[in-house]
Amino acid sequence: MPNRRRTRMIGKPPALEGYKPFGVPMRNLESVVLSVEEYEALRLADYEDLTHEEAARRMDISRPTFTRLYDKARKNIARAFAEGKAIIIRGGTFKSGNYWYRCNSCHETIVSAKPEENCDRCSSGDIVRIDEGTTDTNERKQG
Ligand SMILES: [Zn+2]
Repeated sequence: MPNRRRTRMIGKPPALEGYKPFGVPMRNLESVVLSVEEYEALRLADYEDLTHEEAARRMDISRPTFTRLYDKARKNIARAFAEGKAIIIRGGTFKSGNYWYRCNSCHETIVSAKPEENCDRCSSGDIVRIDEGTTDTNERKQG
C-alpha cells in the first residue's frame, strides 16, 4: 500500500532552532529531534489554548492525526527533560504559505511572501530555507 502522508499546514516557523540544558556544552549533549509539526501541535494546543479540533483544522489534518502529533511532541520534550538532552526543532512533513529562511550569520528567522536572497536584519547572503519539510528527523512510521 502506498505510504501517503498528508502534509501539515504551518503558518510560521518555530521561534528558535531548539533548546539546550543549562550549563552543559553542546558537544557533550545528546539531542531529541522535535519535528516542526510536533512543535506546532504543542504550540497550538498548549500556548494558543486551542482545542484539538480547532488546532487540527488550523493544520489541515484530522483530529486523530493532530492528537498523535501532540502526544509525540510531549513525549519527546519529556524525554529531553528527563534525560537532560537538547531539543532540536527541525524537519517533518509540512507546508507553509510563505518562504521561511534562517540567517546563518545573525540567526534571524525571515518570513516572506517571496523568495529572498539576503537577511532582513544583517543583509548577509548566508540564509537557508527552513520551510521545506524534510525527513531527516527521528520520525518513525507508525501503523
Ligand atoms: Zn542576518
